[in-house]
Amino acid sequence: MSKERLVVIGNGMAGARTVEEILARGGKELFDITMFGDEPYGNYNRLLLSNVITGSQDASEIFLNSLPWCEENGIQLLAGIRAISIDRAAKEVHGVVGTS
Ligand SMILES: Cc1cc2nc3c(=O)[nH]c(=O)nc-3n(C[C@H](O)[C@H](O)[C@H](O)COP(=O)(O)OP(=O)(O)OC[C@H]3O[C@@H](n4cnc5c(N)ncnc54)[C@H](O)[C@@H]3O)c2cc1C
Repeated sequence: MSKERLVVIGNGMAGARTVEEILARGGKELFDITMFGDEPYGNYNRLLLSNVITGSQDASEIFLNSLPWCEENGIQLLAGIRAISIDRAAKEVHGVVGTS
């Protein structure tokens, strides 16, 4: 059985949690998952960003799902690519390289 394609735009806490729940329900077998994330790395706990800014935590400590985690779970993470348009008829999402 061929998998359906699932595209998630935004690799923040909400997008990542959504994908985690989909995987927990057997989504890896059902979908080819692609995530667009315009930040050029895996997702992180943004609530802890204040600690990084004040220097009480290192940036490496607040990551949630790393790039290897995405690979292990069969997720194509387009890190550093911003989705700019959705062509529903063609079932395509178009992106550009760059950070917000
Ligand atoms: C310094 C700081 C401290 C905070 N502290 C707290 C706190 O203590 N308690 C609390 O409840 N909340 C806090 N927040 C708010 C909390 O971080 C947000 O509510 C939460 O991150 C929202 O999650 P999200 O996934 O919806 O959005 P975001 O975290 O904004 O994630 C969205 C992601 O999608 C990406 N994206 C957006 N558009 C596109 C596109 N077109 N293509 C590709 N990628 C895209 C963005 O780059 C981003 O990585 C804080 C926020 C900051 C900045």
